[in-house]
Amino acid sequence: MAITFVVCIGAALLVVCGVLGVYLRNTIRQASNQQMLNETDEYISRIDKQIQADFQTLETLAIFMGQQERDLSGSFGQVLHEANQRNDFISMLYFPVGQNGIASIVDHALQTDVALQSLPDEAQEVIRQALAGESSISRLFKSEYADERVFLYAVPVYDEDRVVGALAASDHVEIFSDILDGNGVLGGNGYIHMLGTEGKYLIRSQRAVVTEPMETIFDGPYFAADEAEGVRLAMARQESVFSSFQYQGRTYQCLLAPVGINGWYLICVNTMQESSRAAYQITRVMGFAFLGILILILFLLIYGYTVIRKNNRELFYSAYYDRLTGAANRKRFVQRFTECLESGQPLSLVALNVRNFKFINEIFGKEYADRLLCFIKSILDQHISGTEFFCRDSSDLFYLCLKQTDRDGLRARLESLMDEIVQFTEQSHSDYRLTLYCGIVLVDTPPEGDAARQATDIMAHVLFALASAKGSYQNSLWFYDAQLHEKEKLENYVESHMQQALETGAFRLFLQPKFDLKNKSLGGAEALVRWIADDGRVIYPDQFIPLFEHNGFSVQLDLYMMECVCRQIRQWIDQGLTPVGVSVNQSKLLFYESHYPETLTRLMDKYSIPANLITLEILEGLALENVDELNHKIEQLQARGFRVSMDDFGSGYSSLNTLGRLNIDEVKLDRGFLLEIAGDPQGRTRLIMSQVVELAGHLGMDTVVEGVETASDEALITAMGCGYGQGYYYSRPIPAAEFTEKFMIASGIE
Ligand code: C2E
Ligand code: MG
Ligand code: MG
Repeated sequence: MAITFVVCIGAALLVVCGVLGVYLRNTIRQASNQQMLNETDEYISRIDKQIQADFQTLETLAIFMGQQERDLSGSFGQVLHEANQRNDFISMLYFPVGQNGIASIVDHALQTDVALQSLPDEAQEVIRQALAGESSISRLFKSEYADERVFLYAVPVYDEDRVVGALAASDHVEIFSDILDGNGVLGGNGYIHMLGTEGKYLIRSQRAVVTEPMETIFDGPYFAADEAEGVRLAMARQESVFSSFQYQGRTYQCLLAPVGINGWYLICVNTMQESSRAAYQITRVMGFAFLGILILILFLLIYGYTVIRKNNRELFYSAYYDRLTGAANRKRFVQRFTECLESGQPLSLVALNVRNFKFINEIFGKEYADRLLCFIKSILDQHISGTEFFCRDSSDLFYLCLKQTDRDGLRARLESLMDEIVQFTEQSHSDYRLTLYCGIVLVDTPPEGDAARQATDIMAHVLFALASAKGSYQNSLWFYDAQLHEKEKLENYVESHMQQALETGAFRLFLQPKFDLKNKSLGGAEALVRWIADDGRVIYPDQFIPLFEHNGFSVQLDLYMMECVCRQIRQWIDQGLTPVGVSVNQSKLLFYESHYPETLTRLMDKYSIPANLITLEILEGLALENVDELNHKIEQLQARGFRVSMDDFGSGYSSLNTLGRLNIDEVKLDRGFLLEIAGDPQGRTRLIMSQVVELAGHLGMDTVVEGVETASDEALITAMGCGYGQGYYYSRPIPAAEFTEKFMIASGIE
């Protein structure tokens, strides 16, 4: 584009330059031709004037002589001789009609009895014309007295009206030499010759460029044949003509103009070469100037173009590539991925992630983590080629678009890829066991419709599959399938409807009884939330609590549930029933909320219920962080009358040691114990469980066992000395009203 532009500009400039040059050249030529014409005319008119003046002198003498006594043998000769001495003529002659004449030649004696026939033909001719009554000038002829060519003026001499004789005067052509020396011709750039018939030189200017001796202008090779022909023709017609000749490789322009006497011509030569050289020089200078400008423009354009290209490349790079690894970025990937979907070819999208990358960053440092990312990029470069591509999104998340869709092949390929990446720690002599995980979406037949939208959806699916693969402790991969799809749909629903659900009361209070094993009676209840969706379907806490803990909504939900519980207890009291203690699950986020104890107390006050009816269930994970801080919080809550229970004890990393250090009121043994006991004939789990129960007893804590599903479960935990049992054996979690009806009014538990 830029090049075309420059070429166009260049061509335009050259054309302008050329046209200007030609115009300049023609203008200069026209001007110099005109100047030649003007000056030649001027010279012709001066010659003419000179001749007229000479004629006038001669005619005056003729009148004078016509009145004289013309006795040729007497004083007349003397009169003629004296007259000749006074004027500039070389000689003067007088011929009476029908007789011989006399001749006076300056510096010579007067000759008498000169026969007309003795004179050269040219002289005889004009004298005869004068005798016939006509003034004229002769052609040039060789003078007998001077070694030069001369010409003759002749005028008739009248006595009254009768021609009585002819008066003639000769002069040499040098009379014009001062006119023709040519110093001022064309301002010094030219010269003039005077020519006779046939182009013979009459007067040859000393300033001539051609210095060789020549008779006529046509001698030598100077006039080209056609030019010479043109000149000859014009001379024959007594017309002016412009012509040119070559001399020493240069062309000279000339003008040949008739003088109007005897076929004489003036040739005015312009040292045209000089003028044209000036034009040529100007054209050349202009050409160079234009060329310079052109090169400058070209340079600027190319420079500008390169700078813009470089900037564009950099902009493109920063817009589409990741500075750290040099891999494409998400934007570029999405573009290409969308194009692939549009083309309808089968493909698979893989999301690859490093497990605990945050930890690697913190423990090994940013530089090490960056090197790991670059290493992953280099391995991906080796594994992915052709029409496949990948990108690094943010942090340690890589997306791969592969053209392979067979599950097993893909699994094997990704496993070997992950194995290679894991080599990084070996190469860097680190003991850390690096693991990776992948989420995969197979797109066998890309769905119809908006490809950009599909790309967004598929990328969300792959992240969902990735999240599902995260849980493992080794390299793992997870395919996005129908089940995951449902799960993802539900999560999307949960996240987008949670606030609305809270406002419309979609979160319902369910209660599950806690059975007092000693008294064989209802020992309390646990509040468990159920979400009744718009379509009436029940959504269970496992499907949304982890998400709410992640997005912080659990704080609002737990307080909401707490208020539901308080309202329920208030209702029991108002109904005249003896309220039972209710355990309420508390998320970690709520537990560490500032003013958490005050908030709870305000709720108790609002419904006027004693705090000791509320047991706060916290997860054992809390104890992992800071036992002292946790104890401090527990004591604050206990001081306000609340009971604190540790939920799901035994499901994680908790130890008996932790149990000993916490000032809790109750420990709930995870249902995992009962499950494990069933599959453990050696009785190790049973031993551990009974140790926990015993220790809790020693520490003054109540013990509740979760997941009591059978009578034998109950018998087992009773034998162990547990205080309470909770599980389907007694009841599933049921709506609060049903619980009231079943366990408070009818006292259904026996
Ligand atoms: P959790 O506190 O350990 O609650 C006990 C869970 O075990 C309940 O599941 C209950 O239905 C289930 N369960 C009880 N007996 C049996 C049994 O005999 N067999 C089996 N297989 N399961 C039994 P649910 O209601 O789905 O609650 C799951 C978890 O969700 C709860 O575990 C609790 O951690 C959390 N959760 C429930 N409601 C709330 C809430 O309001 N706030 C918070 N933060 N978490 C809640
Ligand atoms: Mg619980
Ligand atoms: Mg539990």
